Amino acid sequence: MILDDFKLTGKVAIVTGCNTGLGQGMACALAEAGADIFGVYRSTPGETPAMIRKCGGRFEGIQADLSVPANAENIINQAVNTYKHIDILVNNAGIIRREDSIAFSEKDWDDVLNTNLKSLFFLSQAAAKHFIAQNSGRIINIASMLSYQGGIRVPSYTASKSAVKGLTMTLANEWAQHGITVNAIAPGYIETNNTVALRADEKRNAAILERIPAGRWGTPDDIKGAVVFLASKAAEYINGFTLAVDGGWLAR
Ligand code: NAD
Repeated sequence: MILDDFKLTGKVAIVTGCNTGLGQGMACALAEAGADIFGVYRSTPGETPAMIRKCGGRFEGIQADLSVPANAENIINQAVNTYKHIDILVNNAGIIRREDSIAFSEKDWDDVLNTNLKSLFFLSQAAAKHFIAQNSGRIINIASMLSYQGGIRVPSYTASKSAVKGLTMTLANEWAQHGITVNAIAPGYIETNNTVALRADEKRNAAILERIPAGRWGTPDDIKGAVVFLASKAAEYINGFTLAVDGGWLAR
């Protein structure tokens, strides 16, 4: 039956940035669908472990700094050692730095590219080594509206998220033959820590709201269906695609 194809019972999902916002929402969604979670968090896992356990999932995890891409292999190995196998990698952790491009610093460039792109690539590579051995695996990258658009005063973020969309296609091309799908979700404007500054700016907030056909900001709950779908058997033949979950923003 088709609804059975959406179930993730027996699967293990690694979710980076699991402690807040979209990562927390997606970790909970995957657990609600039956998966066990290996969470990656920068300082503490916050309320996520309790939320996962409440819906019957197992939570294990690791504290790691993803601005240091060399940590990627160890993170994946720890997940495999803990659960003995892995099935799903959600590359969610990300940061943004806002400054006029004319004054943008090398540090704000490197910090964002290392976290949003370089770690995502090396986590995917390390996970794919296991996925190739078992001839199955799911990678879901978190892209952005700025995978499609330029944005304002966020040059390193736009560069990283545009690259995530392209890289998603490259990895899908190379790894489809091994039973691996690599897709991305491009969230629209979602209420999380990442968008506090935008929502606090009355003018920007009004301009953004006016452009969203749905007429509201999204919430982490809005991403739950997409991540479960792309992680599930139901999405087996979808590969290299970036799915916008944006209340219609890109259609405008
Ligand atoms: P958030 O700030 O709540 O979450 C970011 C997560 O990444 C946090 O859990 C944080 O701990 C983790 N992280 C950041 N730097 C890290 C590091 N060096 N090491 C380990 N973990 C690190 O914001 P969010 O909106 O939930 O962001 C999640 C993802 O969604 C990001 O990739 C972001 O770019 C993307 N995104 C968000 C929106 C939005 O409107 N909120 C829109 C498009 C894309």
